[in-house]
Amino acid sequence: MSTIAFIGLGNMGQPMCGNLLKAGHAVIGFDLVSGNCDRLAAAGGQAAASIADAVAGADIVISMVPTGKHVRAVYEGPDGVLQNARPGALLIDSSTIDVENSRAVSKAAEAAGFVMVDAPVSGAVPAAQAATLVFMVGGSREAFDRAAPVLQCMGSSLVHVGPAGCGQAMKICNNMMAGMSMVALSEVFTLAERLGLDYQTVHDVMTKASGNCWALQAYCPVPGPVPASPANRDYAAGFSMGLMLKDMRLSQSAAADAATSTPMAASAAALYQKAVDEGYAAKDFSFIFKLVSGRAGA
Ligand code: NAD
Repeated sequence: MSTIAFIGLGNMGQPMCGNLLKAGHAVIGFDLVSGNCDRLAAAGGQAAASIADAVAGADIVISMVPTGKHVRAVYEGPDGVLQNARPGALLIDSSTIDVENSRAVSKAAEAAGFVMVDAPVSGAVPAAQAATLVFMVGGSREAFDRAAPVLQCMGSSLVHVGPAGCGQAMKICNNMMAGMSMVALSEVFTLAERLGLDYQTVHDVMTKASGNCWALQAYCPVPGPVPASPANRDYAAGFSMGLMLKDMRLSQSAAADAATSTPMAASAAALYQKAVDEGYAAKDFSFIFKLVSGRAGA
């Protein structure tokens, strides 16, 4: 069993730590919000006073923070991981961030003598709780093999997708698809209703037909057909509109860097931006159906 330092104990970090503890690892965590450190301690982990304190005795460091800026501060800051972790420690960043910052941190880690992978996840809080996350891992084969046993404690599927930064590239492409398909499906439900079809019928037929997709089958944006979907609890966030906007923006800046035209994703990103501008950042991203169907204020 290993000693694991976990940086970022928010919505995802907390249940991921729970599964590491369940698997018998010692977890010492740090978050800027002291209440999050207290929650880890209450769950059987140990709360650290700083990143330096958390990583000093750790075999493995995992980070789960919001953006590239946060990841760079966590690893490269004066009190950060690279200055304070034990030589030979394995570093795993599971945050969803841009490829450029991910590769820069990985390069700095390598220069400081560490082995690092980017390992962003698909699956929201329920998957983090159930240890069924999908990990998309970028890094060397050796780094992937070292990370696999600990990632298996938190996920049901691990894929080595390429060298450093490729985990983030894969995650950005996946979420670009999820973001676009939720908007597309919202248009379909809006039209279907106006043509006299009910939601359940649309769901029953399309899940068996060529229009099927994850958003329809598992995360339906209209109330009724999928009991676990946020549409049935007033769109309380599993995955927030704000985070989906962040990921759609990541897709758009990656597309610009790669000189790739993505007009559908651009149009979906503009809709998520509108939703956030109208005050819906904290709602689940499937609330985009309400905007598309013209019922956001209803
Ligand atoms: P969150 O905001 O709930 O948690 C992030 C935590 O990081 C916060 O508690 C914050 O205080 C902490 N933090 C920020 N900077 C820090 C620092 N320097 N030191 C210590 N702690 C710091 O976010 P989340 O929902 O847990 O998401 C985390 C990452 O996972 C994001 O990149 C997100 O896009 C990705 N993700 C989220 C979901 C989801 O459904 N919520 C799903 C897949 C991926």
